[in-house]
Amino acid sequence: MIMIKNTLKETDPQIYDFLKNEKHRQNFGLEMIPSENFVSKAVLEALGSIGTNKYSEGYPGKRYYGGNKNIDDIELLAIERAKKLFNAEHANVQPLSGSPANMQAYFALLELGDKILGMNLAHGGHLTHGHPVNFSGKFYKFSQYGVREDDHRIDYDEVRKIAEKEKPKLILSGATAYPREIDFKEFDEIAKDVGAISMADVSHIAGLIVSDVHKHCFPYTDVVTTTTHKTLRGPRGAIILCKEKYAKAIDKAVFPGMQGGPHNHTNAAKAVAFGEALRPEFKNYAVQIVKNAKVLADELIDYDFKLISGGTDNHLILIDLTNKNVTGKQAEAALDEANITVNKNMVPFDKRSPFDPSGIRIGTPAITARGLKEQEMVDVAAYINEVIENIDNREKILKVKEKVVELSSRFIIYD
Ligand SMILES: *Cc1c(COP(=O)(O)O)cnc(C)c1O
Repeated sequence: MIMIKNTLKETDPQIYDFLKNEKHRQNFGLEMIPSENFVSKAVLEALGSIGTNKYSEGYPGKRYYGGNKNIDDIELLAIERAKKLFNAEHANVQPLSGSPANMQAYFALLELGDKILGMNLAHGGHLTHGHPVNFSGKFYKFSQYGVREDDHRIDYDEVRKIAEKEKPKLILSGATAYPREIDFKEFDEIAKDVGAISMADVSHIAGLIVSDVHKHCFPYTDVVTTTTHKTLRGPRGAIILCKEKYAKAIDKAVFPGMQGGPHNHTNAAKAVAFGEALRPEFKNYAVQIVKNAKVLADELIDYDFKLISGGTDNHLILIDLTNKNVTGKQAEAALDEANITVNKNMVPFDKRSPFDPSGIRIGTPAITARGLKEQEMVDVAAYINEVIENIDNREKILKVKEKVVELSSRFIIYD
């Protein structure tokens, strides 16, 4: 009885310290990985709640365990808010993360071995969009579309051509490293014309869609998956949204198809995040994410960085560092030394390997959540340039780190 009432610091000072160190890192560096974000205190509170104690296999009103009145209230509110955010007919809020959500959607809509048309991984697609090491590439026959070599935009004529030739059962849109807006209506028209189901994985851009900064998937797309922890600024997790026609199949694929009991603390936190995203302030946030990305892109172009597609419409920028004689891996490590966190990334038509590719991917969702605006983007671009220009000069990089720490300390996120 004593142990159960102890604080983390009392019970486990090691983990307490590791988390304290991580909080310090988050507060005093610039988190510029485009798939990351900072959740609010309210979301953290729900996530650390007693929701974690409860088993509730099934769905609201149809559980396999007793005592679920409060959990039903939480899940129903999460569902209602998710539907409202995405203009969806149906929402399942139980998927544990983005990859399981994609697996559940495929299981709901396809037979093993069926054909899917998705985005080429090397051009910005995700592992679950058909990579051979992933379940998706093992269980389904993928064909892939990419971006054009000259302007790095999705080639919708090519998508149509492959779709007509391959006759996939599912056409998948969505990406992890595509800096331009995606035309879901066009994807859906191609799918309709070849008798395929249209699915969009909007994990990266969900926050931009629900704020009307990018166009919505519905009423076009049949099934939409998204993580909740990227631009949507919720806890780690995912949801599946769909037209009523697919509701039953999706729910069955999530439970009992693949998962057991839902993570009710996470679902409570999802509900809180969706409530935040429904407020007008969230729209301002999403607008600012893109404004910041555009200023950062323009500044980097002025420093002669080569941006894939020449700029950005969303929260991310993909840079080809070839002209700087720096690899993605070197850039990631040097920027890390200056407390700027980014990730190395393949660029379309990359001649290097995924372990040391030609590019880096940077994003503005997390730094925008802290309150950084256009003026700070000018500084951030200068810092990135200074590090890349002085890639072998540790002294200069540590000078940049001092400036990054100073800037960050004016925008402390967690006290
Ligand atoms: C992040 C991401 C996922 C995977 O999400 P996890 O929660 O890491 O499993 C799936 N699809 C896309 C497009 C993503 O960006």
